[in-house]
Amino acid sequence: MQKQGDIQNLLVEFAGKPKVSRRPPWDGGVSWRKDENDNHFIATANQGDGASLWWPCKDHPYDEPDSMLISITFPENLMNFSNGRLRKLEQNNDGTKTSNWFVSSPINNYGVNVNIGNYVHFSDVFKGEKGNLDCDYWVLDYNKTKAKKHFKQAHKMLEAFEYWFGPYPFYEDGYKLVEVSYPGMEHQSSVTYGNGYKNGFGGRDVSNTGYGMKFDFILVHESGHEWFANSITNRDEADMWIHESFIAYSENLYVDYFWGKEASAEYCRGTRMNISNNLSIVGIYGVNYPGSGDMYSKGANMLHTLRQIIDDDEKWRQILRGLNKEFYHQTVKSEQIENFISEHTGLNLQSFFDQYLRDTRIPTFEYALVKGEIRYKWTNCVNDFNMKIKVYINDELHWLQPNKRWQRLSIEKSIKTVNVDKDFYVASFPLIEIE
Ligand SMILES: [Zn+2]
Repeated sequence: MQKQGDIQNLLVEFAGKPKVSRRPPWDGGVSWRKDENDNHFIATANQGDGASLWWPCKDHPYDEPDSMLISITFPENLMNFSNGRLRKLEQNNDGTKTSNWFVSSPINNYGVNVNIGNYVHFSDVFKGEKGNLDCDYWVLDYNKTKAKKHFKQAHKMLEAFEYWFGPYPFYEDGYKLVEVSYPGMEHQSSVTYGNGYKNGFGGRDVSNTGYGMKFDFILVHESGHEWFANSITNRDEADMWIHESFIAYSENLYVDYFWGKEASAEYCRGTRMNISNNLSIVGIYGVNYPGSGDMYSKGANMLHTLRQIIDDDEKWRQILRGLNKEFYHQTVKSEQIENFISEHTGLNLQSFFDQYLRDTRIPTFEYALVKGEIRYKWTNCVNDFNMKIKVYINDELHWLQPNKRWQRLSIEKSIKTVNVDKDFYVASFPLIEIE
């Protein structure tokens, strides 16, 4: 008889052959590959399809175990890397070893992973906001020289993201980069990496601006998920923008930290080429259905637009750090993130988030020049949309707050040019010009 609140043990035994992933990480399961020297090179990845593909779990993101021990048996000439820290490595007498990795923090189940290969190790220590962070790197033996040079970017990433988001969220479990045969995934405290020790993403600049080739996209993006995805986790897949919008946005914060604000803005604007505006960013609740791929670049541009509205970079940074403090190691709903930002900016951002997260239209600043006046309003938007915006009239800055009804502003000189600030993700459209 179990009393309410008692803690008991439950043993679940299971066996079988897990699904093979044909295209990791987009197709979930186990990939059984070989490295260049014909050694086994095995990895799991299951974002989207769910971790229950290969281990029994409550396959829903709302609940996370408070800790986890992951014990894996593999051929003795190889090694396995999972999340957290290696508690024990056992030599068995049948030509195998068993690794026991322990994660001391709550972990989302898609973040649990197994990586078996002929790995070699190097490590260093990052002196961060919470003290010494152990950084461990596990790569294939023949890539060690390249990796040692290239993975110096890990410290740069930690420095930039601690500045913007606050302390790395898993000091207790350490930070690891583990080489895999697929591009990469944000596995908690064992970020997997397969971007070929090159900058960009698969040799490509996702922003088309040149800045995307100045850093390793996979190293920066997947590690960034330690803050948004692993520490702050969506409670429902429909709210996956909490993971991807903030981390697509973090790429430009990384550019900002090292190359300055204008470079970062250029990077973010450059990613607009990836937006399709086909479906809303927020998906369907309760049925494991994330929204549109626009959660990446459009989400990033939404947050970049928000930075313009707030118009106070230090305040914006404190909000990003505040989110990581308030929702540290928790699963959250979209509205908690939205309300937190509204509260801390003092702005009612409900219609702003409705527009960008739950609608596919690009809000349009419609204007007319009529006898010494500019008349303006928002169209192509949700009903109560009233975002303020920077508009340059004759190169002079005006903060306007349009809504869906015509408003007017007198301008003493004749109006030669009207330009909406390009860092707002909006369209603009002149209707008539009668001077
Ligand atoms: Zn991502």
